[in-house]
Amino acid sequence: EWAEKTLLAIRGMDKQIGAFLTVDEDRVMESAVHLDEAQPNGRMFGVPYALKDNMCTAGLKTTAASRILENYIPPYSSTVHQRLLDTSAVLVGKTNLDEFGMGSSTENSAYQLTRNPYNFEAVPGGSSGGSAAAVAARMVPFALGSDTGGSIRQPAAFCGVVGLKPTYGRVSRYGLIAFASSLDQIGPFTQTAEDAAYVLQAISGHDPLDSTSSPADVDDYVTHISDDVRGLRIGIVRDMSTEGLHPGVQDAVNKAVKVLEKAGAQVVEVSLPHSQYAVATYYLVAPAEASSNLSRYDGVRYGRRVAGETLIEMYERTRSEGFGMEVKRRIMIGTYALSSGYYDAYYLRAQQMRTLIRQDYQAAFEQCDVIVTPTAPTPAFRFGENSDPLQMYLRDLYTIPANLAGLPGISVPCGMVDGLPVGIQFVGRPFDEKTLLQIAYAYE
Ligand code: GLN
Repeated sequence: EWAEKTLLAIRGMDKQIGAFLTVDEDRVMESAVHLDEAQPNGRMFGVPYALKDNMCTAGLKTTAASRILENYIPPYSSTVHQRLLDTSAVLVGKTNLDEFGMGSSTENSAYQLTRNPYNFEAVPGGSSGGSAAAVAARMVPFALGSDTGGSIRQPAAFCGVVGLKPTYGRVSRYGLIAFASSLDQIGPFTQTAEDAAYVLQAISGHDPLDSTSSPADVDDYVTHISDDVRGLRIGIVRDMSTEGLHPGVQDAVNKAVKVLEKAGAQVVEVSLPHSQYAVATYYLVAPAEASSNLSRYDGVRYGRRVAGETLIEMYERTRSEGFGMEVKRRIMIGTYALSSGYYDAYYLRAQQMRTLIRQDYQAAFEQCDVIVTPTAPTPAFRFGENSDPLQMYLRDLYTIPANLAGLPGISVPCGMVDGLPVGIQFVGRPFDEKTLLQIAYAYE
C-alpha cells in the first residue's frame, strides 16, 4: 500500500517538479512484496528514499546528470546505498543534479530542470537540487546528496528542509562519482533534525573500501538529540563578508540565534580572517581535482563513446559531446592550474590558503562550540538569473569554508523571505555532528 502511494505521489508531483531522473517502479513493488513477509528490523524498515544520481546503484542507471554516462549501469553499489538497503529502507529512485555536482542551481543538468516546490519559477538550489526538492515536496521522507562546496546545505536552505554535510571521512565515498575527492562528502536531506540523526546513524562509519573514511567511533546521534543546549557557545563570525547578503536573510538568522539564546545557549564573537579567500581557494582546488577525476571518461572505460578515425579523435569527440559547458570550464581551469609553470602560482598557493582557513577554525573552536552563518546570501533565485558563472560561484561564500576545512555543517530552515524558505547554517568541530543535530533539534 505504501509503495503504491509513494509511486503515485511521485508520478503525480514530479511531472511538475522534475526531481527524479529515474524512478525504479518495478523494484519498489518487488521490495514491498518482500518486506511484507519480513520481520520489521528498526526505524528505517520499509522507509522509501532517493539518492542523488551520482551515487552508484548496482543494476540501476547512474548518470551524474551527464551525457557521458547516459546509459551507464554500475556493476556495484555505493557503500551508502548498501548500508541503507541493509536497514531495509527502499530506494525509489535517483535524483537530478548539476552535471557531476558542478553548480548551485541544478540548471547544469544535461537532462532536465528541477523546480523549487515553493515556487516553480525558482531554482531548487544545487547541486543536489533533485534530492532537496524530492524531500521538500514530501515525495520521499529522506534523500541523500553530496556536498563539495555546499551542495547539500544550500539546496536544503532553498527548499526549506534540513541538510547535513558530515565531517570529511565520516561517511564512505565508495561508489560516489568523484567531483573533487578531498572535498566531497555524502549526507542526508530530511524534514527534521531527528530524521537526519537516524539517516546519518545508518550511513556513517569506517569503510575499508574508502581509504579516506575515518575509523573513529560513530556517536549515538539519535539518543542524544534532545540533550540540553544550555551553556553551548555559538560563535558569530565578526569578519565574514556580508556582500550580497539579503537583509531579510540576515534578520531571519539573527532571530534564530535569539531563539537559541533563550534556550540557554551563549553567543560569542569569533574571527575567521581567511574566510574571504575561501571562494577563490575552492575554485582552484575543486576544478584541479575535477580535471584529474574526469580524465577517466575517455570513451573506453565508461559510458558514451563517439567514434573517430584515430584514438585521439575518438577521445576528443567523446568528451566534446559528452560533457556540458560548465564541466568543460572546470576541466580547463583545473588543467591550467595544475600545469607546470602555473602550479606554484595557483594550486600550491590555494593549498597553503586551505591550511590557513583550517587553522582559523581551530582557533575559533577554542572559544565556541558551533559557528553560525546564513547558509546562502539570498533565498532561491529565478531560472537563468545567475547565468554568469562567476556570480554563481560567489554565492557559495558561506558553505565553502567548511569543505576546505573538512568540517561538518548543517542547514536548518529559519523562516521565509519573499515567499521562499531560508536556512541558517551551523558548522561544528571535526566529528561533532552530534552537537549540530542537538542545536538543530533545539531550534526546531
Ligand atoms: N556550487 C559549488 C560548485 O559548483 C558546490 C557544488 C557542490 O557542492 N557539489 O562547485
